Amino acid sequence: ASTELVENEEFKIIPDYMNPFLSIEEKVDKLLSVMTLEEKIGQMTQAERRYITPDEVYQYKIGSILSGGGSTPFSNTPEAWANMYDRFQKWAMKTRLKIPIIYGVDAVHGHNNLRGATIFPHNIGLGATRDPELVEKVGRITAKEVSATGPDWNFGPCVAVARDERWGRTYESFGEHPELQKLLAGAYVRGLQGPEAEMDGEYVVACAKHYVGDGGTEWGSGDGGYLIDRGDVTVDEKTLREIHLPGYIEAIEEGVGTIMVSFNSYQGVKMHAHKYLITDVLKGELGFDGFVVSDWNGINEISGYSYYEKVVKSVNAGIDMFMVPDSWKKFIYNLKQAVENGDVSEERINDAVRRILTVKFKAGLFEKPFTDRSHISLIGSEEHREVAREAVRKSLVLLKNENVLPLDKDSKIYVGGSNAEDIGSQCGGWTITWQGRSGDITEGTTVLEGIEAAIAGRGQVVNDLNQADVAVIVVGEDPYAEGRGDNGRLELKQEDISLLEKVTGAGKPVVVVMISGRPLIISDYIDDWDAFVMAWLPGTEGQGIADVLFGDYNFTGRLPVSWPEDVSQLPINYGDDDYDPLFEYGTGLKMDLE
Ligand code: BGC
Repeated sequence: ASTELVENEEFKIIPDYMNPFLSIEEKVDKLLSVMTLEEKIGQMTQAERRYITPDEVYQYKIGSILSGGGSTPFSNTPEAWANMYDRFQKWAMKTRLKIPIIYGVDAVHGHNNLRGATIFPHNIGLGATRDPELVEKVGRITAKEVSATGPDWNFGPCVAVARDERWGRTYESFGEHPELQKLLAGAYVRGLQGPEAEMDGEYVVACAKHYVGDGGTEWGSGDGGYLIDRGDVTVDEKTLREIHLPGYIEAIEEGVGTIMVSFNSYQGVKMHAHKYLITDVLKGELGFDGFVVSDWNGINEISGYSYYEKVVKSVNAGIDMFMVPDSWKKFIYNLKQAVENGDVSEERINDAVRRILTVKFKAGLFEKPFTDRSHISLIGSEEHREVAREAVRKSLVLLKNENVLPLDKDSKIYVGGSNAEDIGSQCGGWTITWQGRSGDITEGTTVLEGIEAAIAGRGQVVNDLNQADVAVIVVGEDPYAEGRGDNGRLELKQEDISLLEKVTGAGKPVVVVMISGRPLIISDYIDDWDAFVMAWLPGTEGQGIADVLFGDYNFTGRLPVSWPEDVSQLPINYGDDDYDPLFEYGTGLKMDLE
């Protein structure tokens, strides 16, 4: 990997700050002491790869590049990713001080922007597993597949505590109760970064997000045209700390390199301007010593101020790096002005840059700036998919079973429903494109294919309902991401309702499998079903569902959220007064496998 370093003439002179006998702290001090204001501001700037050219990275001494959701190189192969990454890095390494960029992606359930990568269940499914060892393995594989293609930084794990299932990001959360973030956030960070925050080579820098309260906003308070996403959190500080802080505490304990600020407000103040919560609580009280990154143009949403004032407020609130994907030039210009005018102190700038450089040194970027392609062959490998399949099995939650599960491998099975044969819907949002898409978007196994493989040579998948011994109907949602998934109705699709009526009308036993990022309202229908399985957004390994339906494994998953009887109950969370959901938080049945 580092051969390019050796071959490159310029690198024969080892800069002072690269002296291997210095500690990281000493290296950072040395480097910082020779940097100009322009170079420092460059480090604090993150542009999106579509809105900047590699030579502009050189010219403006940019510190970071990201690929936003679905922003992939044209051919979307591992090699194309690595070439893109290396090209940006090459120009960063030509700058006077040879400071490498750090490149971020949203690999929130595997390297999900890359076609052919292993796609794991979204976090809600991992929450149902309650299995930190598994989650660490998921993080580890994600880091391997991501770093093999270049990027060094993953905008995950999302440690949101989703308190209201109408929120379009519910599936990015481990669940509604902070015990889940406590259990899994640290494991995920360890998986991504390596033990002892190693971050080096095969690992990537993690980013706990979105600080803080993203999952606790009120319905109707959403910002940017959304209903609940980016809204306001109104709970008192004690409650905010009890519910929304534990995931960060665990992540910090594991040495998480970065934390992303949330689009939401807390008691009317946008988090991007919240000095008390970012500087006093996160950096002070919790001792977070990595760097804080803004969300996508997040500073723009501090409404009621000029752009200059937004920059001043957010830098002074404690944000260190700015995700200003398309507006990076404007950001650089305004921040320079602010320092020259004395509205932002040099001390604040030095603190931000010191944090960024420290993470870059810890991640080994100075020593190995270019892509180590030695793991490309592992992307989407059998070995990796096997872990994803295990994650699928463990994420499944059995909510009803009247003597129909496990299914008999010798039976004739009618398989139908909107999500029975759809990799795209299994993966949900944040897959290949930002919003995700139904259909054949990447490689994997659908639920139907999983069932076919499980009964091959014995039973049969039948198209004719009348011939069937039993029906498996896979219902659910179409993909969505972020506020575009905000939804006040949470209804089943009409086509699924009609099919279920047909099946129950024919008197066939029916197993309903739901592929969805959150509970949908089923109170009017479930009495007619013989079994009901929640499968969340399982990703590419649909076979994991068949593994359990046929009893090769038992169900172990438990609900990470309360299942509402009706949308009028929302928000509904374990511990509420008058708590009366359809299924309680923590519910999860087992089959009798005797
Ligand atoms: C999302 C973040 C994401 C970022 C970069 C934002 O819109 O809120 O979760 O990391 O985009 O793609």
